[in-house]
Amino acid sequence: MAAYEYETHEYDVVVVGAGGAGLRATLGMAEQGLRTACVTKVFPTRSHTVAAQGGIAASLSNMGPDHWQWHMYDTVKGSDWLGDTDAMEYLAREAPKAVYELEHYGVPFSRTEEGKIYQRPFGGHTTEFGEGPPVQRTCAAADRTGHAILHTLYGQSLKNNAEFYIEYFAIDLIMSYDGACTGVICWKLDDGTMHVFNAKMVVLATGGYGRAYFSATSAHTCTGDGGGMVARAGLPLQDMEFVQFHPTGIYGSGCLITEGARGEGGYLTNSEGERFMERYAPNYKDLAPRDYVSRSMTMEIREGRGVGAEGDHIHLNLSHLPKEALAERLPGISESAKIFAGVDVTKEPIPVLPTVHYNMGGIPTNYWGEVLNPTKDDPNAVVPGLMAVGEAGCASVHGANRLGSNSLIDLVVFGRAAAIRAGKVVDRDSAVPSTNTASVDKAFDRFDGLRNAKGTIPTAELRLEMQKTMQADAAVFRTSKTMKEGLDKMVTIAGKMDDLKVTDRSLVWNSDLMETLELTNLMPNALATIAGAEARKESRGAHAHEDFTARDDENWRVHTIARVEGNQIDLTYRPVVKDPLTTEEQGGISLEKIKPKERTF
Ligand SMILES: Cc1cc2nc3c(=O)[nH]c(=O)nc-3n(C[C@H](O)[C@H](O)[C@H](O)COP(=O)(O)OP(=O)(O)OC[C@H]3O[C@@H](n4cnc5c(N)ncnc54)[C@H](O)[C@@H]3O)c2cc1C
Repeated sequence: MAAYEYETHEYDVVVVGAGGAGLRATLGMAEQGLRTACVTKVFPTRSHTVAAQGGIAASLSNMGPDHWQWHMYDTVKGSDWLGDTDAMEYLAREAPKAVYELEHYGVPFSRTEEGKIYQRPFGGHTTEFGEGPPVQRTCAAADRTGHAILHTLYGQSLKNNAEFYIEYFAIDLIMSYDGACTGVICWKLDDGTMHVFNAKMVVLATGGYGRAYFSATSAHTCTGDGGGMVARAGLPLQDMEFVQFHPTGIYGSGCLITEGARGEGGYLTNSEGERFMERYAPNYKDLAPRDYVSRSMTMEIREGRGVGAEGDHIHLNLSHLPKEALAERLPGISESAKIFAGVDVTKEPIPVLPTVHYNMGGIPTNYWGEVLNPTKDDPNAVVPGLMAVGEAGCASVHGANRLGSNSLIDLVVFGRAAAIRAGKVVDRDSAVPSTNTASVDKAFDRFDGLRNAKGTIPTAELRLEMQKTMQADAAVFRTSKTMKEGLDKMVTIAGKMDDLKVTDRSLVWNSDLMETLELTNLMPNALATIAGAEARKESRGAHAHEDFTARDDENWRVHTIARVEGNQIDLTYRPVVKDPLTTEEQGGISLEKIKPKERTF
């Protein structure tokens, strides 16, 4: 057995992750006087949330009429009726409060002439339950909204005495014999020491796993570490087959051009110069939801109307917009287009391609952020001591497809909800749970095995094999054949994890080992994704199945629950929550409005 010495820390709450979700949860916990630690593998303001450009959705009605029920309706429809209705109501109802809180914490939102928070249109956000014109619902701080939110929340968390453990890499959860989470084990990257955090509540806010794919808009740190830890603890992942491709990643680099660019009036064209979205989505055109636009772009390319020498991408046009609007509302993307595509947006179109952007699936939770471990008798059974928020979690508000600007609001609404819940369920006077040393030993054995891995395949090589396979076989278009082949390939690739070769054995700044740990996290996320996709015999949201092109509510309006152990995947299903939080009599949405129907734009 591998022996590592470790330092023990005790807290009421340990939050793993310091992106928008982790920081909002940390701040909310600390404000209530809970002793709170936040551990993060990168400096808080370097979390991927910093890259969020376009904005955060809330029905403030600053630019025209809006209503939380319209926001809820759009989210339900956007999810292609796979979201949990209670969670979607909670999101839409609480969104304005959460945004005003951000404003009061100090987020420097862009302003209207009258000094109100500026809001822009975003895909899939409409008025009058989808009957009216697009709405301006997305609050923005120019095109650097995530940056502004992170800096504000980090400052506020420090002010409220949250304690930060920066560049600590969480390796595994500590689980008690009776299935509760009681802490987390971390490796301090800069000095190689080990740390055990015992806590009454652990909150996973580790972000998405975009890096399971070859081309992604997300940071290299988005490796699904929370999902990996959860899978190793014998807990499930939910709806992983739903992966969002953003229509406008810059061709080649994958760097994101925000949907806000189309919100401000940009449009897509094919090799004939045609604004083809008018054919696919006559009403909302370039502002149809992302799955719709990505699929339309892929159709154009497949039918030979792509642009460029290889006819393999599409043009995004902004040059007709006033220069001042570009400089004021979209300065960051003007810069990205210059650097990554060599394009001056005031003169030329930007070459773009659908690129992996967001994971709708994740660790299943209820709308308080409490992690679920569904059983036959209780599909909503809660795991004591464990929460998940942000892109790592699946509440599920995005269902089969997330609307643009609904993630940032998800981070703050559910980060806040987790804190409110923890304030109720965490007993401040009770003792912090003691360490289950068997759980710690198991984690150190795994760590030591990887540190001394003497196989034949370098981590980077196996990772690339995984990324290429996922990109080819679990992408925008999916057929029974490609997904079956992809699943078989992925099972073989995951089987090679035992043959990894790690060359650096040190404990200090060992990026080889850290990337290996990350690969052990990416792998279960990727396996659950392709297995869930292969099994789902319908088309819904981001899961467009060429052999089953219709949505099948009778058989498939269910959440996929995937348990992954090694390269084995076990799939079961959990019912979608169909009831809202409040009835129409109590002021809630009418059930008639949100009943499933065909999703057209
Ligand atoms: C380029 C880009 C632009 C986007 N724009 C928008 C937008 O305009 N509007 C919108 O609504 N959404 C947008 N999104 C989506 C949204 O930004 C993300 O879904 C969201 O920021 C995820 O936040 P998070 O807090 O869950 O995780 P992240 O911000 O990814 O943070 C994860 C945190 O977990 C920590 N962590 C991870 N693993 C470990 C570990 N093992 N040990 C310790 N710490 C760990 C990291 O250090 C980090 O602090 C965008 C996404 C991208 C990629």
